[in-house]
Amino acid sequence: MTFESLGIAAPVLRAVQDLGYSTPTAIQIKSIPPAIAGSDILGCAQTGTGKTAAFAIPIIHRLAGKRRPAASNPVRRGNDRSDSVRALVLAPTRELAAQIDDCFKRYGKHSGLKSTVIFGGVNQNPQTRDLQRGIDIIVATPGRLLDLISQGFIDLRRIEMFVLDEADHMLDMGFLPDVRRIIAMLPKQRQTLMFSATMPTEIASLSQQILVDPVRIQIDPQRPAAERVEQSLYHVAQKTKPALLAHLLRSRADDSTIVFTRTKHGANAVVRKLEAIGIRAEAIHGNKSQSARQRALDGFKSGELKVLIATDIAARGIDVSGIGQVINFDLPQVAETYVHRIGRTGRAGRSGVATSFCGPHEGELLEAIERVLRKRIPAGRDQPPATVLSDADRQEARDARQNEGSRGGAQRGSGGRPARGGAAGGTAANHSRKRPEHMRAKKAKTPSKASLVEAMLIRKGLTKPKPKPSHFDDPSPCLLP
Ligand code: AMP
Repeated sequence: MTFESLGIAAPVLRAVQDLGYSTPTAIQIKSIPPAIAGSDILGCAQTGTGKTAAFAIPIIHRLAGKRRPAASNPVRRGNDRSDSVRALVLAPTRELAAQIDDCFKRYGKHSGLKSTVIFGGVNQNPQTRDLQRGIDIIVATPGRLLDLISQGFIDLRRIEMFVLDEADHMLDMGFLPDVRRIIAMLPKQRQTLMFSATMPTEIASLSQQILVDPVRIQIDPQRPAAERVEQSLYHVAQKTKPALLAHLLRSRADDSTIVFTRTKHGANAVVRKLEAIGIRAEAIHGNKSQSARQRALDGFKSGELKVLIATDIAARGIDVSGIGQVINFDLPQVAETYVHRIGRTGRAGRSGVATSFCGPHEGELLEAIERVLRKRIPAGRDQPPATVLSDADRQEARDARQNEGSRGGAQRGSGGRPARGGAAGGTAANHSRKRPEHMRAKKAKTPSKASLVEAMLIRKGLTKPKPKPSHFDDPSPCLLP
């Protein structure tokens, strides 16, 4: 299959050839022809499948092939171009929106169409200046888009094509009400392309409301990250995590590495500690300016920056290929996030490595993750002796767990899971099949924060209760409605 055979117009074809793409990906083969023909699309596919081109190419093809209709109300405000926009793409994060706009610019460079990206957290003036010049395609996150609409800079009444990308992430991030407000402003007569990696109930019902007789496309996810990524786990005291991190970074110095921390403050602290010992790293999180985030990301993409420290929200939607390793400096609060994090390495058939640090107080988070994986994460084998849990660390952890237990009232058992035996803590314990002693302390009946979050997600229909299959399967399959 070639791009020529998909029937795309010459200027787009030339741009694709300039990029060196020789064959379309599966989602491009399935979506481009019907989208070019004007059909609505419901695509169930993840990032990394080539889905941006699957919607950007048909948009450029269709808009470049049609002259812009004369303005319905040409005498509004002097040089008002707010209603020039003919295609709108909504994305949940600013990083993803910027990447999509970048794709429009690359695929559309011979088309004469203008695109721009709109997101919050930055001065709006450069965005409004762009809009006033007349823009064909807007890629936006919902909040700033609504803001600029309310200020009269954007008028959606002449939108011909609308894309809702990563709809499930929109839901996760609480953007669905804003998305619905935006959709209500679009003309009824339009083409809609909707993409989502998973299909929770809310997203399935939204798809039924906004799509007309859509072509349904399901691209099977690549082998689940939990299967294709080589994972390992180290039990380590919080204070010695930086030393272990430095050791692992040095032993894979040529790899690009994303290090996940739980908090923005934690991300900054890790950067400082690494820099103090001569390892260059930069952090991306919500408190960094957009330009600082973009600079770090560009350096990381080009390979000039090897170590990126990120919080989960900041890392969402980042498309960087060739990440050699992911390190969970802190375990995630929500177990499913672990799978998303480790999925950033080992893409496109490449091998990847994911290493997790479990501090003495993170035992319950680890248990929740291993429940999602339905397997134990193997113990790492490269722990410098100085970072092995000391007896005092283990005692502190046991005390903390017992205190939690007594605060929570009745004690609970081990939950029927096989215990890890052998010497507690240390390298020996890490290599043992048994859980370290500090994690075998009696636990309180009080549910963990992670399980409360999981229960809340189940109540809201964002996730399903875990069945107990005999093998690991993808935790978030997309079942088209
Ligand atoms: P996406 O899923 O849209 O984020 O795309 C993932 C990556 O694949 C991006 O880096 C694209 O530039 C790249 N890509 C998209 N389509 C093709 C193609 N047909 N051939 C090679 N690379 C592609």
